[in-house]
Amino acid sequence: MSDNQDWLQRSFNTVWHPCTQMKRHEALPIVPIASADGVWLRDFDGKRYLDGVSSWWVNLFGHGHPRIKRAIKDQLDKLEHVMLAGFTHQPVVELSERLAKLSGLAHVFYGSDGASATEIALKMSFHYWRNQGLADKSRFISLENSYHGETVGALAVTDVPLFSSTYADLLKPGLRAPSPDARRALPGESAADAARKAIQALENLLTKHAGEVAAVIVEPLVQGAAGMVMYDPLYLSELRRLCDQYQVHLIADEIAVGFGRTGSLFAYQQADITPDFLCLSKGITGGFLPLSCVLTSSPIYQAFYHDDVTRGFLHSHSYTGNALACAAALAVLDIFAEEDVLATNADKAQRFNSMMTDLQARPDVRNFRHKGMIWAFEVDTSRADFAQACFAAMLRRSCLLRPIGNTVYFMPPYTITDEEMAFLIAATAATLEELARASNTADGQSIALP
Ligand SMILES: *Cc1c(COP(=O)(O)O)cnc(C)c1O
Repeated sequence: MSDNQDWLQRSFNTVWHPCTQMKRHEALPIVPIASADGVWLRDFDGKRYLDGVSSWWVNLFGHGHPRIKRAIKDQLDKLEHVMLAGFTHQPVVELSERLAKLSGLAHVFYGSDGASATEIALKMSFHYWRNQGLADKSRFISLENSYHGETVGALAVTDVPLFSSTYADLLKPGLRAPSPDARRALPGESAADAARKAIQALENLLTKHAGEVAAVIVEPLVQGAAGMVMYDPLYLSELRRLCDQYQVHLIADEIAVGFGRTGSLFAYQQADITPDFLCLSKGITGGFLPLSCVLTSSPIYQAFYHDDVTRGFLHSHSYTGNALACAAALAVLDIFAEEDVLATNADKAQRFNSMMTDLQARPDVRNFRHKGMIWAFEVDTSRADFAQACFAAMLRRSCLLRPIGNTVYFMPPYTITDEEMAFLIAATAATLEELARASNTADGQSIALP
């Protein structure tokens, strides 16, 4: 038995893997990773895989980035962690100051993962209105195709039935507004027209329900887990206007799109707005350590600042503001500040676009779209098992790609080179060709996992 087989067997026996029907791993092997460097993961047999999805969208600058590694090692020699209730430390203070400056939101509350950031934003919004004597504002509006995490509160504002419908009895029903999905534009209409229609529907909802609504939560510009649904920034500027007009908060969940993924540091900046709450995680540590945070404005913070303890935000997580994770996040911000990442990415994206013209022209490729360092398209296929078959075929070609249903997307680390991107694109084209030729021997079960 090779080392690889040994590790995958032991993992299969004991590790309950996320987002997975474990029985499927009887047929589809788990891939044990021994090491990683740049965009490349390496298994125990020495086979490489190009990480085309940044390890679930967290890895910004490649694996093992020396600067982030050094920051964590340096911090490790000083302080690994201290509780943040009643205590503080240098990395959390510096990170908070820098994030506040970059976002225009003055106060930062920390969590450990994306879903906990969503929970924090929802609770804070509700609690703010309650502190203002408006406790009836206890519902949330989320969008069709939304994904905000999978804890019980976050799942209630998530619209991916595969993840949420099983737990429907646990979830507090919210309100759902149409997605501004640019693919919904009719012939002759623009993405902005599609956004305007979605805004009209949202306004109708607010007209009826604003008195009971605390906040609208959105993923700015790209709805990730539903299949990289992209939309026009006009939706966000109109959303800001409606939130002000109807007195509801705007929660920007930038857990996936924050830190340059859509071309600006934060996606909402492309609409020239500021949200009331900003949720960050995933890329915040460059994919090294779990960390999340929620930023909010001074007026909202002030509504909690009081002699009465219960007006305060008493929420907590044990690892809130972990020092090692904050040190990694500071290194990420240093890289952004010193290496002109956004401009370099813009140039890269342009070159990558022209490398994808053949892929885009394939007869089975639909809705090819691109935003910043995300590319996505739907594949016309009769295969019910397309996502799985594509994933497996890409692994054979030394690439990690995880289609969502029949949506194929690239979300590579920003450090990917032209050669590596060409490799990924060629492997994808060859895989589509192979799957189009192969007869459909699927087991008939379709599943769409991000
Ligand atoms: C991944 C994600 C989350 C949840 O983050 P976790 O760390 O997986 O809990 C929430 N919102 C968006 C937009 C995400 O992409």
